[in-house]
Amino acid sequence: MRLYGDPVLRRKARPLTATDTLTVPGFGPQTVREVADTMMETMFEQRGVGLAAPQIGLGVRLFVAVEYEDDEEEGGDDDTPLKSRVLRDFVMINPVIAVLNKKKDKSYQEGCLSIPGIYEEGVPRARQIAVRYTDLDGQERTIEAEDYLARVFQHEIDHLDGVLFLDRLPAEVTDDHRKELLKIQQHSKNFLANLSSWEKEQHLKERL
Ligand SMILES: [Zn+2]
Repeated sequence: MRLYGDPVLRRKARPLTATDTLTVPGFGPQTVREVADTMMETMFEQRGVGLAAPQIGLGVRLFVAVEYEDDEEEGGDDDTPLKSRVLRDFVMINPVIAVLNKKKDKSYQEGCLSIPGIYEEGVPRARQIAVRYTDLDGQERTIEAEDYLARVFQHEIDHLDGVLFLDRLPAEVTDDHRKELLKIQQHSKNFLANLSSWEKEQHLKERL
């Protein structure tokens, strides 16, 4: 998982097609479907509701998300098998939002797998949206979403533009979490250092 402080989370991701071959840093080439499957598994393991490609180090416009039966408690009890509570799952390629109701909603708590342990209420999100996207079969689709699900989609699509939920709150909120954020940034730095030494090793092996 790419964490707060990782530059990939701040870059605008590029469009892709369903037939692309993708290379997640640290792994071999994979199809979009394989990457989406891995992302879905990772999301369940981490008890999340959504995961965007930049969060696994891949700068493409792709995210996965789920709608749970009781969608207000995203984490829930650790003993409940998450997958048994899934109502719908989504894999979206090149998603584009249209706001259907400009009324902002601030009522839910928001968190992010890339900013572990930090949850905040008050992130303003459009209450009702439509998302146009391409599915894994390359079909164009549109889905309407309200309330919590609309919030999830907006959070994930923000990731594709390099935006994190803390950016949408007053700067004081980020300041309040400065200590925790510095810790997360340090983890991120260590991870990237390990990854780059792993990649150097791979290049050496390829040359041998
Ligand atoms: Zn997130």
